[in-house]
Amino acid sequence: MKIVSIRTHPLAAPIDQPFAFSQAWVDTRVGLVVEIETDAGLTGWGDGYGPPKPIASVIDTLYAPRLIGRSPLAGDAIWEELYNGFRDHGQRGIPIQALSAIDIALWDLRGKFFGAPVHQLMGGPIRTEVKAYATGLYRRSNDRDDNHAMLHDEAEAYLDAGFGAMKTKVGFGFDDDIALVEMLRATIGDRSELFVDANHGCDVVQAKKLARAMEPLNIGWFEEPVEPEDIDGYAEVRAATDIPIAGGECSFTRHDFRRIMDARAMDIIQPDTASCGGLTEAKRISDMAWTHGVRHNPHVWGTGIGLAAAMQLLAVIPTTAPSFGAHHPLLEYDSTPHPFRQGLLVDPIRVEEGIAHVPQGPGLGIDIRRDVLEKWRMD
Ligand code: CA
Repeated sequence: MKIVSIRTHPLAAPIDQPFAFSQAWVDTRVGLVVEIETDAGLTGWGDGYGPPKPIASVIDTLYAPRLIGRSPLAGDAIWEELYNGFRDHGQRGIPIQALSAIDIALWDLRGKFFGAPVHQLMGGPIRTEVKAYATGLYRRSNDRDDNHAMLHDEAEAYLDAGFGAMKTKVGFGFDDDIALVEMLRATIGDRSELFVDANHGCDVVQAKKLARAMEPLNIGWFEEPVEPEDIDGYAEVRAATDIPIAGGECSFTRHDFRRIMDARAMDIIQPDTASCGGLTEAKRISDMAWTHGVRHNPHVWGTGIGLAAAMQLLAVIPTTAPSFGAHHPLLEYDSTPHPFRQGLLVDPIRVEEGIAHVPQGPGLGIDIRRDVLEKWRMD
């Protein structure tokens, strides 16, 4: 089996109701899908999480020319060749997001070639069902009363849908953040876990103050309190609070995560499978986290292909401390508006009563709707 073509699909779609996290208002959802075709009639699909056109450019101009005519089966060797080939200019960011997309598509191909789901080729499954948490509860209005009313209803809707865990956004200023988190805890009571995410919108002083003030509100984790480069700052915040500290969606490859773990900076790492280096690198990071006794809940905010990749990985993330009360990894289930996230999939990955099932078909276990790909293709 040889690779005969690699096509990139940069996608974008406007949304009706913009929403905000600590850094920006979101009015468009984007995605980068890569499609690798072989002479065996098999096609592999990958997702790169990041700016679609620059990722596509790296794939089209740097990676694809090296891969045409090659066997897609030697995944580790291809990963190392692409990483090392551009290491001097691309240890983080867009080149690694492009590598992630290629790597996921190669795993999809290998699974299809061997007739097995990716998680089986990775030695699993450890689990076939994963508890999901709803990622949502973003700011929807700058008017506090309006915002609270909308987010109150959104939290109720997650409870009604059976979610036992959900995540909201902080990093809008101390008073705003505390008022929101108090309102949400009052809304959901003890019926759901609650996580908060600052998207690196605090400095260390702000993060410590906010963490201490949130402690009585039973917060499951405080995500991206400070900037991803400030690993010492993470460790300081972690030492100052009982709330578990999470992060890692803006970190890349096992090299970044080694530094994070050496510094005991996070209780929970959240590499994005479609950004940190693909399934190959995410599994290595997962094994490293296991060795350090650190939890791993993958970040998921891309297309349904990235979601499927995360599900395959979740099937093989080791439990931290096996026991009757063992902690299992959680699925981040993006519940924000997105016109094509799951629309790309012939069979969307569903969460029912807060549980998602790992796709069991060959490769990623998904089929792609080409009409949806064409509809949202960027100019
Ligand atoms: Ca996040």
